[in-house]
Amino acid sequence: YLARQEQTESNARSYPRGLPIAIERGQGSFVRDVDGNVFIDFLAGAGVLSLGHNHPELVAAMVDQLGVLTHGLDFPTPAKAAFVEAQLAMLPPTMRERTKIHFCGPTGANAVDAAIKLCKTATGRGDVVSFQGGFHGATATAMALTGLVAQKSPVANGLPGVHFFPYSSCTRCPLGLRPDTCATNCVEYLERSLRDPNGGLPLPAAVILELVQGEGGVIPARPEFVRRVRALTAELDIPLIVDEVQTGCGRTGTWFAFEQYGIEPDVVVASKALSGVGAPVAVILYDRKLDAWKPGSHTGTFRGNQLAFAAGVEAVRVIERDDVLGNVRRRGEQVSKRLAEIAWHPAVRDIRGLGLMWGIELTDAPDGTPAPELAAKVRDSVLHEGLILELGGRDDRVVRLLPPLNVTAEVVDMACDILIGVLGRLGL
Ligand code: PMP
Repeated sequence: YLARQEQTESNARSYPRGLPIAIERGQGSFVRDVDGNVFIDFLAGAGVLSLGHNHPELVAAMVDQLGVLTHGLDFPTPAKAAFVEAQLAMLPPTMRERTKIHFCGPTGANAVDAAIKLCKTATGRGDVVSFQGGFHGATATAMALTGLVAQKSPVANGLPGVHFFPYSSCTRCPLGLRPDTCATNCVEYLERSLRDPNGGLPLPAAVILELVQGEGGVIPARPEFVRRVRALTAELDIPLIVDEVQTGCGRTGTWFAFEQYGIEPDVVVASKALSGVGAPVAVILYDRKLDAWKPGSHTGTFRGNQLAFAAGVEAVRVIERDDVLGNVRRRGEQVSKRLAEIAWHPAVRDIRGLGLMWGIELTDAPDGTPAPELAAKVRDSVLHEGLILELGGRDDRVVRLLPPLNVTAEVVDMACDILIGVLGRLGL
């Protein structure tokens, strides 16, 4: 399979490029490869499989829907209506009434595009503020907003009118400050630039922000940073788009990460885990005050995936019933405690995370050059011992943990034992 894939598929494909296994079956937090080897899956379809592989109730919901209706375009259908109600019910009560949903499908990047288009239409403005190190997807617009430069090279240039500002990434502070003594100065440059009418920056149509940069290396934003971005955008009447493609649907321990930051965005972008099973669906949830779209002005074919809707409704029901968000918080604490065991290691520069999104940043070589091969070595070694992990961040030097949200304490321990063991034996 691997040799044939190498021959037939482009090498531009995503993560599993670095994981030389062909997988055949998945169950819960485990996958089995075609040779019968079993792996703990802490990639979970890039955060998509929130309830693990083949959750029986989600499978049953899809099977029930299968003989009824599979594709409904933009028609109202019972499956879609149930999905919309389930999604709105997960929002904080203060947002429910003023929120509208738009189906953008099929992928997260499509929803990012839609969010930008909506804000441009609503404000009549053209520029967008984004943040260094962020990732928003691989379409032309989403890629142009992506500050994780390695992801876009060698595609030179982006779109005109995209402005990048420093993110609160304290391990590698863009201003060279130390987190314990700084005053979240990173956001001050944005405040000054946007408030200064002669600053050369036109008032933007939107500010787009990840609350935890995922692909960027699992970097939770400082709460003060997020609060000031929200206050600034509210003051200047700039719509704030929060990209919750990766952080959403429970990944950080609340349904959306913005709840933990004590803010309410104007537009939320959600996709990955919305169906819980990998059936594609992507939406924006937006304040109806922005609803300046003319009828039919943002369309597309694949927005009516009834299987995704059926599974998504069931996913919300199971997550609520089984207190999966509580599990995310408890397992997150467990991961944090376990990873602290390896913090002493000279190759470990930082350990960061929120909920069930964790990253271990490995350090540079002593001469200061990045050492992505160190992280690749960890990924390869843990795979050899039965654990699937992927890399992210600048120069791919962050080892990332993205398990299913219903992962058990035992499986977390098994995975941490493997990872800590491998890191402990890592030569420098
Ligand atoms: N935004 C964020 C924060 C993401 O993490 C991703 C995917 N990793 C995207 C957007 C793009 O989503 P998709 O790959 O489904 O287009």
